[in-house]
Amino acid sequence: MQRFLIKDTAKHVGEKVRVCGWVNTYRAHGKILFIDLRDISGVIQVVFVPSNKEAYELAQTLRTEWVVEIIGTIVKRPENMINAKIETGSVELSVESLKVLSQSETLPLSIEGDGYEINEEVRMKYRYLDLRRERLKNNMLMRHKVIKFFRDFLDAEGFAEIETPMLTKSTPEGSRDFIVPSRLQAGKFYALPQSPQQYKQLIMASGLEKYFQVARCFRDEDSRGDRQFEHTQLDMEMSFVEREDILELVERMFIKLVETLYPNKKIQEIPFPRIPYAEAMEKYNSDKPDLRKDKNDPNLLAFCWIIDFPFFEKTEEGGWTFVHNPFSAQRPEFVQDVLDKKNLGDIVANQYDIVLNGMELASGGIRSHDPKILEKVFEIMGYKKEEIWEKFGHMLTAFTYGTPPHGGIAPGIDRILSILQNEPNIREVIAFPKTGDGRDFMMNAPSEVSKKQLEELHIKIDSAKTKLDHKKPAKTSKK
Ligand code: ASP
Repeated sequence: MQRFLIKDTAKHVGEKVRVCGWVNTYRAHGKILFIDLRDISGVIQVVFVPSNKEAYELAQTLRTEWVVEIIGTIVKRPENMINAKIETGSVELSVESLKVLSQSETLPLSIEGDGYEINEEVRMKYRYLDLRRERLKNNMLMRHKVIKFFRDFLDAEGFAEIETPMLTKSTPEGSRDFIVPSRLQAGKFYALPQSPQQYKQLIMASGLEKYFQVARCFRDEDSRGDRQFEHTQLDMEMSFVEREDILELVERMFIKLVETLYPNKKIQEIPFPRIPYAEAMEKYNSDKPDLRKDKNDPNLLAFCWIIDFPFFEKTEEGGWTFVHNPFSAQRPEFVQDVLDKKNLGDIVANQYDIVLNGMELASGGIRSHDPKILEKVFEIMGYKKEEIWEKFGHMLTAFTYGTPPHGGIAPGIDRILSILQNEPNIREVIAFPKTGDGRDFMMNAPSEVSKKQLEELHIKIDSAKTKLDHKKPAKTSKK
């Protein structure tokens, strides 16, 4: 017999149905037993009466969170028993047969309510139970819809989703890399991508003009605020574009996202205000200003663009480093300054951020596709020629074979979701988040590996030192 989703049962009054799910609540009213049965789609009231002896007796053994299959008839509830709050509130299921598919121990945490008050380590350890919570289930399903929206939107705009490697080489995004030892190339390491930046630019060199990817990025940052070691970004790159093309597309995408999936929210100002970096710092003392007129309105979305970032900033050692992304181009009027390596502090990058309610959603830029200029940028940052070629030779070479002007952006999906779902942090919109210091209490990661694995990887652990290192205070990284 075909399984019905609970939400669909109300349309089938008088019919026999088979439903499966979890015992949400269990109660007895005199001789009658009621359970609320829950599946992905909703909850229905199920009624067991003593005259159906077999099912009734089995029902007496049920406990919450047991998984059951029930066959029965959908009947209309008496008028005074109707619950207008739920989709199936006008009906109930009169049981013919009950089968227990799986039993459950008492849960180690309550899955009723929003659960914010529950110790987060416990929620993480039993994340698969925490995800049974209505709020988190909804966050996951909305995340799916938002990602699907982005995919469909970009597909309709002629973009292709292209996967790039996870095992790769370090790319500078201003953080530390996670590195992976190579077994076959003794003593060598891959880096997990801090972003697909170089690959997406090489995709532009390949002529696949519009790329996107729902990309996982890894950054080994010290616990700082609302960060995770891995995050997901909507990574995009386009050829033959100028800044205006990218801002226009992304703005249109966000407006349509809100209209389609969050119609109750209102965008404070369209077109999104554009604020030069210098002005933002002067006026708001921040490059992520929260422009909401009413900060208590949970449905208000104040987007803005921050443009014209400085290209370089001084390092603590007195040299120069990039502010955002070494692959960005300068605004056209600063080409000569880059080539002459002068007025470095005044050079403006063709780099932009999109900010929403005081949070940086995305960074992007028009890139340097001229190998001479890119090489100069690395020289300015203090790299020696051999080093530049060792690290970025593939980019410089690619750009000598006819690479179109290009640019892109990479909105952070976790951040967007946390704001749209009115969540206080990104962990609430990630299925299996880690703690601020990168621990996964459920899988118990990171963990030690066997001696054999270490030997195969040609790695020796300095146990005296690792114990010490655990106690050292964390150093801060750039981003
Ligand atoms: N690669 C940048 C980042 O991950 C985004 C971009 O410039 O497209 O932040």
